[in-house]
Amino acid sequence: MDFTHYIAEAMNPLMADIAALCRINSVQGEAQPGMPFGEGPAAALEAALKLGASMGFRTENFDNYVGHIEYGEGQELLGIVGHLDVVPAGDGWDRDPWGGEIDGDVIWGRGTTDDKGPVVTCLYALKILKDASVKLSRRVRLILGTNEETNWDCMAYYLKEVKPELPTVAFSPDSRFPVIYAEKAMLQFVLTRDLSEAIEIEGGSAFNSVPSSARIKLPAAMEAEVRSAIARSGDAALYACEVDGDQLILSAAGVGAHAARLYDGRNAVSYLMKLLADLPIGGDLREVVDFYNTRFGTWIYGEGMGMKISDETGPLTLNVGKIFVRGGKLHLYCDCRMPICMEVPQAEEKIKSAIAGTGYDYRVQSTEGSLYVPQDSALVRTLMGAYQKVTGDTESRPIASGGATYSRTIPNCVTFGCLLPDQEDLMHKANECLERRHLEIWLRIMVEAIYQLAK
Ligand SMILES: [Zn+2]
Repeated sequence: MDFTHYIAEAMNPLMADIAALCRINSVQGEAQPGMPFGEGPAAALEAALKLGASMGFRTENFDNYVGHIEYGEGQELLGIVGHLDVVPAGDGWDRDPWGGEIDGDVIWGRGTTDDKGPVVTCLYALKILKDASVKLSRRVRLILGTNEETNWDCMAYYLKEVKPELPTVAFSPDSRFPVIYAEKAMLQFVLTRDLSEAIEIEGGSAFNSVPSSARIKLPAAMEAEVRSAIARSGDAALYACEVDGDQLILSAAGVGAHAARLYDGRNAVSYLMKLLADLPIGGDLREVVDFYNTRFGTWIYGEGMGMKISDETGPLTLNVGKIFVRGGKLHLYCDCRMPICMEVPQAEEKIKSAIAGTGYDYRVQSTEGSLYVPQDSALVRTLMGAYQKVTGDTESRPIASGGATYSRTIPNCVTFGCLLPDQEDLMHKANECLERRHLEIWLRIMVEAIYQLAK
């Protein structure tokens, strides 16, 4: 099939519809009656369903948790799973993040690449197949979630309360091309320990990010020792020491990164602990520092917990994302992502045995099972084929990732698109935008992929 003419015709309205959807601020807000995630996500869902209906598709709204846009006939179902909520704009924008501005060949705004742009692109791909009267043997259903960026309650409601027909095969256009065939299982947990003396230490902000700063208060009398430990450390530039009255604040600087890519970061808490080990401290603080440095240290692959393991989907990674003291207890927020050869219960066993007898308590915060669809499956091969046919890129291989998308909530689902290898990743960052030349490739890939999977 040659869709060239249809693609050319679709580009202007496609850009306009992405821009319009990006003008709706769909950051999760306060729940309202009938709007579990607030007004923004509900408004974005309504707008997307309206657009689908205007193209002649069947639509359904499940209580403003999830919506469907469906096309075609047939017993079997191809699912496309995306989301319409977005993360907050954050600082550093040169344009209005909610302006939906089209300037020349670029659409600016939060959501252009994550995930409104990809969702609307899939909708247009479906419209092209309909307009071209292509005969499909599977129905195609776009499944639209509205709180992916927070806690995935929308998909939980959809799967548990709506109990929908599940697709035979599916993909989620919520990351990058070519295909993510494996996503690591994830375990977020908290370690706590009672303290018998006051320790003022803090660092990091969340389970799933590498702390970019950490600090501890020590007696000012330790200044000379602290300064000489910094000088000895070989990493003097990472540390700062400031005296304030009878206290001293020792801080460490790190490099923030997402827990799926620990190797891009440098953990400030770990470097603070490394320096503390070299100071004349005793009591609880000495025990905390020794525990940390033997179990976590500055490793990222779980070496200190005896968890180092790896397979074709990559190595296990272990991150301490936050440290603080509250109610006389030290808290460590940890995030572990494991290759498909290990599942959550095995990881828990390893952690429990590594902390046995140390006085630390283990509590699970949240878990996600892994996603794995073999690279030689029909689904992965078909999607790779569509990507290669359009882009000519035969170098890029299917990807295993530490990230988490809705793909893992649905059986036989992989992550497909939409960032291209030469496209800058602006998801969750300032100045998120989408260029027409990239969008056109997205659309061509999606038309080909949906056609191949549903024909
Ligand atoms: Zn997303």
